[in-house]
Amino acid sequence: MMSKQDLGELRGRIDQLNNNILDLINERTAIVQEIGKLKEKQGVNRYDPIREREMLNVLKDANNGPLPDGILEQVFKSIFMSALEVQQDEQKNALLVSRARKAEDTIVNVNGQKIGGGEPTFIYGPCAVESYEQVLAVAQSIKAKGLTMIRGGAYKPRTSPYDFQGLGLEGLKILKRVADETGLSIVTEIITPAHLEEALEYIDVIQIGARNMQNFELLKEAGMVDKPVLLKRGMSATISEFVNAAEYIISKGNTEIMLCERGIRTYETATRNTLDISAVPILKQETHLPVFVDVTHSTGRKDLLLPTAKAAIAVGADGVMAEVHPDPAVALSDSAQQMNLEQFDTFYEEMNRFMKTHQTI
Ligand code: PEP
Ligand code: MN
Repeated sequence: MMSKQDLGELRGRIDQLNNNILDLINERTAIVQEIGKLKEKQGVNRYDPIREREMLNVLKDANNGPLPDGILEQVFKSIFMSALEVQQDEQKNALLVSRARKAEDTIVNVNGQKIGGGEPTFIYGPCAVESYEQVLAVAQSIKAKGLTMIRGGAYKPRTSPYDFQGLGLEGLKILKRVADETGLSIVTEIITPAHLEEALEYIDVIQIGARNMQNFELLKEAGMVDKPVLLKRGMSATISEFVNAAEYIISKGNTEIMLCERGIRTYETATRNTLDISAVPILKQETHLPVFVDVTHSTGRKDLLLPTAKAAIAVGADGVMAEVHPDPAVALSDSAQQMNLEQFDTFYEEMNRFMKTHQTI
């Protein structure tokens, strides 16, 4: 029979071996990190499955048991993975948009309106710019509420080439005229680097839409101008891809970036997209950028605008975007989901009531 003393002694040896293994794994991780740096300099991918297979074969040849080869593979695969994960974390934390690089919230300033790190900001306006009168009617309603920004697309990226594509430069001119008359700041989508320079004199915030989230040339160009950018999440983009898209902008020097969750495509058909509400706290944790939620394009349903906007604020969003049109029934795009001016008034009041009772303002 094994005595208590024997058991204690064997356990002592196990503890010692655990420590030795730990030291060895750490030593190994440090060497893998060095290799990773060398590979980065050479522009080579860090993960090399062929080398991994070779290492496993060498280990299996050297295995004298009692560990079976199958388990040996499992153990070493997780050691290999752990080193790779450490490097992936380092790469993520090295991003200029990451919270690890900059702990404090970025506050974007749009003509004096401070976005991020404080009271929520609301961006309302029509889906598309259709006429001066249409934009002005929404602008007056926004201004009457003491708000400072208006959205509206002059260039519309539409699913069908036969659908209304926006008024283009004429639309930008309408937005600018309304901005000059009301003092509101303009948020509008730019869909190609070719339009960017010309648009700058008309607009205050460059919106990069879901369909262009990975238009890397547009991201780089937007990174080189002196205007804030509202970057929307691609409809099939992971959070990591979204964060990397923002990194494209910041890496060119523009730090004034706002992120906007606008729903992702899933198998659910009850809503236009599926609002990924948990993306908000994740983006807030992982980046220092302000985060918006677009309740119109994520839900595609008027009856869900208010509950999802409340959810956005409750979960820590820095702002909400929603579409408003003076006569949604005749809107040239997204006619089913834009609020009319009365509904806008109610939405605004309800949101204020919600924020007061929950002390977010
Ligand atoms: C928009 O905001 O006008 C728009 C087209 O949205 P998204 O790019 O999110 O589809
Ligand atoms: Mn729209």
